[in-house]
Amino acid sequence: MRHPFLASVLLALACSAAAHAAGPADRWLAHVRFLADDALEGRDTGSIGHRKAAEYVASGFKAAGLEPAGTTGFFQPIAFESRQVEEGQSRLALVHDGNEQPLVFGDNVIVSVRAPPAAHIDAPLAFAGYGLSVPEAGYDDLNGLDLNGRVAVVLSGGPATLGGPLLAHASTVRWTALQRAGALGVVTILRTSDIPWDRIKLRRLSPVKGLVDDPLSDTTGEQIALTVNPATAEQWFTGSGHSAAELLALAADRKPLPHFPLTGQLRGTLVTSSSRLQSDNVVGMLPGTDPQLKGEYLVLSAHLDHVGRGESVDGDGIYNGAMDNASGIATLLEVARRLHDSGARLRRSVIFLGVTAEEQGLLGSRYFTAHPTVPASAIVADLNTDMFLPLFPMHSLIVNGLEESDLADDLRRVGRAAGIEITGDPEPERNAFVRSDQYSFIRRGVPALAFKIGWTLGSPEHDIVKRWRAERYHAPSDDLNQPMDLQAAEDFTRFYTAFVEAVASRATRPRWNDTSFFRRFATE
Ligand SMILES: [Zn+2]
Repeated sequence: MRHPFLASVLLALACSAAAHAAGPADRWLAHVRFLADDALEGRDTGSIGHRKAAEYVASGFKAAGLEPAGTTGFFQPIAFESRQVEEGQSRLALVHDGNEQPLVFGDNVIVSVRAPPAAHIDAPLAFAGYGLSVPEAGYDDLNGLDLNGRVAVVLSGGPATLGGPLLAHASTVRWTALQRAGALGVVTILRTSDIPWDRIKLRRLSPVKGLVDDPLSDTTGEQIALTVNPATAEQWFTGSGHSAAELLALAADRKPLPHFPLTGQLRGTLVTSSSRLQSDNVVGMLPGTDPQLKGEYLVLSAHLDHVGRGESVDGDGIYNGAMDNASGIATLLEVARRLHDSGARLRRSVIFLGVTAEEQGLLGSRYFTAHPTVPASAIVADLNTDMFLPLFPMHSLIVNGLEESDLADDLRRVGRAAGIEITGDPEPERNAFVRSDQYSFIRRGVPALAFKIGWTLGSPEHDIVKRWRAERYHAPSDDLNQPMDLQAAEDFTRFYTAFVEAVASRATRPRWNDTSFFRRFATE
């Protein structure tokens, strides 16, 4: 009720509902309305709201004739550990020549407890550029730098010489490379972010969840992981002969960065608290009709969780996650229903997967790929929908992973038939390919794609997307009181259904391109 334009938006929604009485986008919208309602309290991993959402999806899968494909009916329960820094009992400081300069939690730094941090830290520092080691691309920030027993200070991002997928992957496994070089932990100066620092700062007060059983953790052995407010980054470079301003300017142009020891020492005590909880993936299956190919599975994934309750913004503390990602789950439910209602006969089996804990670091999908409910080697592709952003009419589609596999051929064919232009990511530096659940599949060797409604750099639509990210992404205002383009949601869902049919019934198993960086994960 806090938005003065609420009434007009509701009216617009009502009018459009009347114009297409009982039309398909209305069903999509009804799913979004249920999942993003305040009653579900932002669907945080392990919360009652998430449980209600999971039950809603399971009943939708059932209504669409899907077979249960979890470990307990439609559900795949997962054990999590929830961790939080007790800031009142913790302290961190930078020490220069014996002078302790306290680091203020929230204003200067945020402690990541994705991995349980060491209780005490007292370590020298070194600046390791972007912290990336990609020998096959001739780029190594760690070459010749002594990181042994030190905490690495790095800038987020990467040099222009590293392409989108390569940079994305190198960023994900950055800690592994730093650890191999002897580093004790990592301090990341956050160079650019979709979320303004003031909002990131508030989010730190919510607990984060880790998998109890995590075979593919990217943070194992991190004694400390900090994120630094770029506006206060200068204090890390005192006495080094370099300034944060100079380094941030180089990084803004995606230039290579120098590497050098820092004079300060990072010292402190961190107290964390933790508890156990359970949250579920929801898994349904549409069996294939081809005697041979029905033993192969196309996975359609979308995350069901969002970030729950948090600090209030303008008096609203529920982070509803309407676009992120009630919208994607709504499309998944609609694809299942449409395939059922049309009596589509798909040659391969299709797994509909609503995952939990995406917002905690792709954990539900990582768990599913480590403990798949169908044979791992029989999963042939993953198509993921996360926040496809129906904010303006759909004329084109932005596809992450387009350059990587022959799924692009099916996509272009379906695109031509539908009059939809298929494009790669205009902002590869945002690492979208590794930032949602498709990446859990990619790392297991499974070709994958992820989708957004298209726009081009510098267009009015690009401005709409940028404004949406700045104002609503991971904010309480990603709720039902925002403008949505229902026709675009319908066009996207229809397109997605056609594409699912094409991939599920194509003759050959999808393949990584020979030139793809990600082919290295493939086992066949
Ligand atoms: Zn999301």
